[in-house]
Amino acid sequence: MEKKLEALLEEKFQKNLDNCTKEELFEALLIFTREAAEKLPANTGNKKLYYISAEFLIGKLLSNNLINLGLYEEAEQILKKHGYELCDIEELEQEPSLGNGGLGRLAACFLDSIATLGLPGDGIGLNYHFGLFRQKFRNHKQKEVKNPWITKESWLMRQPESFQVQFKDFEVESVLYDIAVPGYESGCGRLHLFDVKSVDESIVSEDSIDFDKEEIRKNLTLFLYPDDSDDAGRKLRIYQQYFMVSSGAQLILRECEQKGYDLHKLHEHVVIQINDTHPSMVIPELIRLLKERGFSMDEAIDTVSRTCAYTNHTILAEALEKWPMEYLEEVVPHLVPVIQELDKRVRSRYEDESVYIIDKDERVHMAHMDIHYGFSVNGVAALHTEILKESELKNFYDIYPEKFNNKTNGITFRRWLLHCNRQLSAYLETLIGSGFKKDAAELEKLLAFKGDENVLQKLAEIKLEKKLEFKKFMKETQDIELDENSIIDVQVKRLHEYKRQQMNALYAIYKYLDIKAGNKPKRPITMIFGAKAAPAYVIAKDIIHLILCLQELIEKDPDVRPYFRVLMIENYNVSKAAKVIPAADISEQISLASKEASGTGNMKFMLNGALTLGTEDGANVEIRDLVGEENIYIFGKKPQEVIDLYASEGYCAKDIYGQDKMIHTLVDFITGDELLEIGDEKSLTRLHKELVGKDWFMTLLDTREYIRTKEQVYADYENQKEWNEKVLMNIAKAGFFSSDRTIKQYNEEIWHLK
Ligand SMILES: *Cc1c(COP(=O)(O)O)cnc(C)c1O
Repeated sequence: MEKKLEALLEEKFQKNLDNCTKEELFEALLIFTREAAEKLPANTGNKKLYYISAEFLIGKLLSNNLINLGLYEEAEQILKKHGYELCDIEELEQEPSLGNGGLGRLAACFLDSIATLGLPGDGIGLNYHFGLFRQKFRNHKQKEVKNPWITKESWLMRQPESFQVQFKDFEVESVLYDIAVPGYESGCGRLHLFDVKSVDESIVSEDSIDFDKEEIRKNLTLFLYPDDSDDAGRKLRIYQQYFMVSSGAQLILRECEQKGYDLHKLHEHVVIQINDTHPSMVIPELIRLLKERGFSMDEAIDTVSRTCAYTNHTILAEALEKWPMEYLEEVVPHLVPVIQELDKRVRSRYEDESVYIIDKDERVHMAHMDIHYGFSVNGVAALHTEILKESELKNFYDIYPEKFNNKTNGITFRRWLLHCNRQLSAYLETLIGSGFKKDAAELEKLLAFKGDENVLQKLAEIKLEKKLEFKKFMKETQDIELDENSIIDVQVKRLHEYKRQQMNALYAIYKYLDIKAGNKPKRPITMIFGAKAAPAYVIAKDIIHLILCLQELIEKDPDVRPYFRVLMIENYNVSKAAKVIPAADISEQISLASKEASGTGNMKFMLNGALTLGTEDGANVEIRDLVGEENIYIFGKKPQEVIDLYASEGYCAKDIYGQDKMIHTLVDFITGDELLEIGDEKSLTRLHKELVGKDWFMTLLDTREYIRTKEQVYADYENQKEWNEKVLMNIAKAGFFSSDRTIKQYNEEIWHLK
């Protein structure tokens, strides 16, 4: 490896390992690692999976690829010998922002596990040049700027294939870039990212995310989830989706034809996992392409239905895509007759209008198409799947009970333990051997050490070390000096009202006022937030504004700052997650019960020895069942109570605000003098009005119990022995949440690859 690096440095820069810059060294390492991954044998078999997704939140790849290739230690030593630290070099990598949150990160974890388990499977997605957006804080508000991540040397490998994609009035050329996905000590998969050849980055101005939404040829692959608050934005999303699925479907059929497969047996050789509804048009597109190849409509529908499987990621009705037929007619008129035919067949079989694909307002329900014309429908956590079957998709479950199944999400332990917490991983290895790296269930061997004070002490030392690393990172990136001896209480995830960052902010107000009243906590507390809000989601941005105003208020207040702080990480992304999660003591998972499909952040925290403070929601339920009530803090209304409240329209925020004096005080603080002096009156007032007048996700319902429980958590932290026993229990029971387990289940119950 050393010789190869030297050769690369010589060839590219006429330098060597002793006189190159860090940037040059990074580039040489990237090329070396990319080539090593590319040379791995592809996982092969008679049947192949295509995981199609609008998002792949892959994060930085250098360290992870080195780990999976078994080259990390060697690279680390070579660099050390020449005076470099690999962890400094990896900072130079740009993080691709090809995803938005949990759904995209899940897709990335799945690719890692698929490759690791030796399964033949590739990802299909888009090569967004500016990704989602980069978040900046300006005047205590979120500002979005573009996030160019593609550097001259990158992980992208241009492929010779290209495809034509037809829209109503024009055609574009689709070109393909691959990113190799090396499995952990295994073969290799691929992430196929399509790009429109005519893309033009120059149409986006410097410090913004604004561009002409109608210049489709130029803008098609610039941004993930372009603003869809107007017609042009919504149509652009349809252009993107169709571009992705048409390119993907053509790639799949070409691969089958090259292998000489009979397309009538497509389902014996191919399974397509549709990740949420963004890729749903792959169903009519494949039908159309098979018809072009001589299939009858019946044959095409039958073949495609046996090939496609759908994963549902949300029960928020507003998040289920419904495209107006009119838009489809303007963008992809050639799909319209296929969709109409699919709908006609549904109508001939069922009376119930709620299962139609095209509703009475001429909108196409993408999920309905997936359920009728896919062979599997899965939810992403036990509770989520039950809610789908019993309420949200009940009418479909009654028709197709055999299609419904659960696949509780998981995370790859290569990234979320071996890479982000090398100290913990190495220590675990001394206790229980290295078997857990391949079989995460072996983490349970740790239970043998539950009463061992030395082990508990060592876990606490590793936590402190990770806090110090995070402290250094926050100093360098945001010039914030945090206290490593404080309790670190973290809520990092996309900003959404259902996730209830606003409730955590109300706690911060409570604590601020309590300290002002003279009640100092035993130990300093650091509350950390990290969250991007969708650019057009006004209330979400108001919540960020509130948090940043609270941060400012407390940072300037010498009475409070030594005891309690609120800090917000700018531009929360995968690499920042990998820094903050190992440093956390408390994992905030406080969504309104029944609304978080699964969550995967909760799993990352647990694995890194943070205790969950959460509601009975998503995978929190399964975490509780594994670790036991005494090793987790669960509070708040139960999922069924919340579902009933929605059904009876029985929730009224104004009543709670009117009757509960404490909550009244906390909510009014949002528009009190202290914050108005710092923040924007319009934004704070709007948020206040929302909380009192609507509060769709029932923040005030759980606020009191939340405050009480959180106080209990902080009090319990003082008994370090008991706390660390809980920590150990959480790590020991985290094995279930390895995405290797999830992928084995997908394979055994849906894909049947080997
Ligand atoms: C894991 C992860 C998420 C998902 O977090 P949840 O708490 O499950 O919503 C979102 N963003 C990033 C960067 C992540 O790593």
